[in-house]
Amino acid sequence: MRITDDRYTRDRQRFDLAFRMIHHEARTSTIRSWTGLSDERIRKLYRSYVESHGASIKRHRGRPPAQTYFFMRNREARRHTSALAGLFKLLGLLDAAHRPQEIGSGIAQLRSAELFCRTFETYTSFYQPTRISFEHAAYLLDTLRLQRELKAVRCPACSALMVVDQLRLLRTVCTWCETDERDTKSTLAYGRLASRQSPALS
Ligand SMILES: [Zn+2]
Repeated sequence: MRITDDRYTRDRQRFDLAFRMIHHEARTSTIRSWTGLSDERIRKLYRSYVESHGASIKRHRGRPPAQTYFFMRNREARRHTSALAGLFKLLGLLDAAHRPQEIGSGIAQLRSAELFCRTFETYTSFYQPTRISFEHAAYLLDTLRLQRELKAVRCPACSALMVVDQLRLLRTVCTWCETDERDTKSTLAYGRLASRQSPALS
């Protein structure tokens, strides 16, 4: 009886997770990998989701995200990337305990996937419009865990978590401090200009 209950609970968790991932427009291959459900069951869930929500959910095909340039392409992208990385860190997803090689498969993997969904949902609730899709967020997490190309470090000016390109460590402060520095420089430049002009005006 206990085994049956556990299996029922596990199956229920898989379906709940799959529904959640469908809502976030995750790829079928990602849903299959994270939930252990077959393609056929995922297809049925897609149909059921669309019927019950009347939503037009995109099903992404083709190759998964594979370029870290996406996260560094401009200031806004870097800001969103750092914010998401901060949530990964805050909610423990960058801890060794959540690494795929540590958790393996089964209930621990489901819990880790649920935590990832909660983290992504926190990001989407704070940052609208969002700049990072569910699939890109998953790719970012993998990249940060492996410290491959991108790395999460502390901003030396404000200690906020920021993501840097390991091959181009040109930026030394986070995007928020960059904005502050730019504003300060503008204020100073305006002050210098005003001081030069003030004798002529008086
Ligand atoms: Zn900073």
